[in-house]
Amino acid sequence: IALLALSLTASAQKTEIKSSVQQVETKVDSVLGLMTLEEKVGQLVQYNGSWDLTGPASGMDNKQKEDNLKNGRVGAMLNVLSPEATAEAQRLVMENSRLKIPLMFGYDVIHGYKTIFPVPLAETASWDLEAMEKSARISAVEASAEGINWTFSPMIDISRDARWGRIMEGSGEDPYLTSKVAVAKVKGYQGDDLSGAQTIAATAKHFAGYGFGEAGRDYNTVHIGENELHNTILPPFKAAAEAGVATFMNSFNDIDGTPATGHKVLQRDVLKGDWNWDGFIVSDWGSIAEMIEHGFAEDKIHAAQIAMNAGSDMDMEGGAYEAGLVKLVGDGKVKEEFIDDAVRRILRVKFKLGLFEDPYRYSKPVTVDFDAHREVARDIARKSIVLLKNENNTLPLNKERKKIAVIGPLADDKDSPIGNWRAQGETNSAVSVLEGIRNAVGKNVEISYAKGADLGVGERNFLLPLEINKTDTSGFEKAISTAASADLVVMVLGEDAFQSGEGRSQVNIGLAGVQQELLEKIYEVNQNIVLVLINGRPLEISWASETIPAIVEAWQLGTESGNAIADVLFGKYNPSGKLPVSFPRAVGQEPLYYNQKNTGRPFSAEHVTYSAYTDERRDALYPFGFGLSYTSFEFGEIEISSEEMTANAPLEVKIKVKNTGDLKGSEIVQLYLRDMVASTTRPVKELKGFETIQLEVGEEKEVIFTITEKMLRFYNANRKWESEEGKFEIYIGPNSRDLKKAEFLFKK
Ligand code: BGC
Repeated sequence: IALLALSLTASAQKTEIKSSVQQVETKVDSVLGLMTLEEKVGQLVQYNGSWDLTGPASGMDNKQKEDNLKNGRVGAMLNVLSPEATAEAQRLVMENSRLKIPLMFGYDVIHGYKTIFPVPLAETASWDLEAMEKSARISAVEASAEGINWTFSPMIDISRDARWGRIMEGSGEDPYLTSKVAVAKVKGYQGDDLSGAQTIAATAKHFAGYGFGEAGRDYNTVHIGENELHNTILPPFKAAAEAGVATFMNSFNDIDGTPATGHKVLQRDVLKGDWNWDGFIVSDWGSIAEMIEHGFAEDKIHAAQIAMNAGSDMDMEGGAYEAGLVKLVGDGKVKEEFIDDAVRRILRVKFKLGLFEDPYRYSKPVTVDFDAHREVARDIARKSIVLLKNENNTLPLNKERKKIAVIGPLADDKDSPIGNWRAQGETNSAVSVLEGIRNAVGKNVEISYAKGADLGVGERNFLLPLEINKTDTSGFEKAISTAASADLVVMVLGEDAFQSGEGRSQVNIGLAGVQQELLEKIYEVNQNIVLVLINGRPLEISWASETIPAIVEAWQLGTESGNAIADVLFGKYNPSGKLPVSFPRAVGQEPLYYNQKNTGRPFSAEHVTYSAYTDERRDALYPFGFGLSYTSFEFGEIEISSEEMTANAPLEVKIKVKNTGDLKGSEIVQLYLRDMVASTTRPVKELKGFETIQLEVGEEKEVIFTITEKMLRFYNANRKWESEEGKFEIYIGPNSRDLKKAEFLFKK
């Protein structure tokens, strides 16, 4: 009876969902039925809200923009930043336009709005999906309180190149981990249902391939074949689509000859066709008109034709759709049914957001508990820290150290830890490392501070290159004497927040300016150094890694940075983060990633002819998944339930993990698989599962993974996601390098 009741409730729920979907569709159709072609095209136009920024292509004055809003010629805006301003723009539409279709207001809420969380790459290092969902939820609460109902996040571009400035904005090099993060973020922003309280529509971006720009150069050409596209780039997007992400954003780059914005196969055939996704695709900023520069479109009208026919639904500040679509339909170059489909998709999201019921729901005052949000930010910040090296248990610091010197250009920096893509107006609002340490130690420890040098980066102008000053060593003397008289030195080095981010690709990824020199000089007078790194990309730190006893990767952790770092330095929190991206020995290894192909010349440390370098090892300095703890863990051998598996009989894989150190701690147990022979070449290993376990001192736990047929599927020579029979290897361990191994045979 209980079972029957359960299944009845479930089917009642299903019917309810179905009927609410139908209701939305009916409403969408009824609005669409009233619209003129001009009004339909209006829904596909997005304006930038900052009136002075007319954007690359629109070149329109404010009066004209205002008139267009009043006439229902605009469907959405971005960068309108305050509840008052959004209400005002909404009012222009609601009080003047014929059909009163509310606007959507988008903004780049990338890692927090007021409370700034770790940059996405950092946050991914926590491997804590619940925490990542929570930070997205909080971002939605804070942003929706200011009138925003749509964020251009998460960025789920796989990137394997530390030179690319936007690597900080994604989840690193692994499709499985990035897929998991994508789902967590979408759930966090959108809640269970977009119509719920304080939800915002999310965007899966950039579709697709943007993280694979050749040579790590932003916006650059992408050379990937179909196999790589489907197996590496698309899985996180598919996961986001399945999680119900409301919108996608396409991307600036071209892929194998076709700009993503004009890519019919990707947008119409794969996303809207094969995946049956019902949200809408917004272009990237002016990316429709950018197809002219790509040499793919003659002019804006032609660009509009290509983009619409390829399935781009909304034109972000490009002016192409408003200039061209009405005429293109008239000339028979674009089918009106494509316009209808795009409008339907946009209206669907607007209905789901509840904007038709209350267009001003996002501009009403809401009380926000910022203190509670800061607590959460501190927690996820410390979970994101990765301990890279800890010789002789240098860390955690006990408070018996009487004199600690805190040195470096980033030691008392309250701005760089906020990272790039900070939300509007956030500057100098992070807790610095120095402040965090002072908060933590109390009066028994003497803290001295010297900056040592400036980071040396010039003016942060988005359009100009950063000038890095390599010569000013005037602060060295004071730093050296401060270090010489201390028991221990905490050196805080890394990057300015604007060394990574959009348009911030670099060929040098070492410690910029005179930082390396400063570190070496300090080491001459005091070898007791803990190096804390604040940065948005993997850095080249081979010298430090050989020389400095303890290294803490602290990324750009946002508002609570300094407190979180101090929690780790003084052992209030035992670090558990793991790298979501490989750290190279030398920049010349980039792109560098663990899930590479074997080639016909597998790895050999001895033979340089084995696809290696003559002047550097070919493996990572710190591999994907790597991160230490203050305690130690011992992994047993892998036990498998059978040597053979079939689609109907999944395999159970067990491993025992024991805390063999002196502190309780968390370990992230990682499962990798390798398909030994297949119809296309396959990576030497691929992450397929992970589990975080907490272990008391001496405690042992068994971790169980289930390997299913679905996990073996890949985009194969049949151009289908299929599993193939044959031998597989299983690897389990604390990172992608130090792994236990077993094998099984898969039969269909
Ligand atoms: C970026 C997008 C961003 C958009 C709006 C573009 O330059 O590539 O990621 O969402 O601007 O700010």
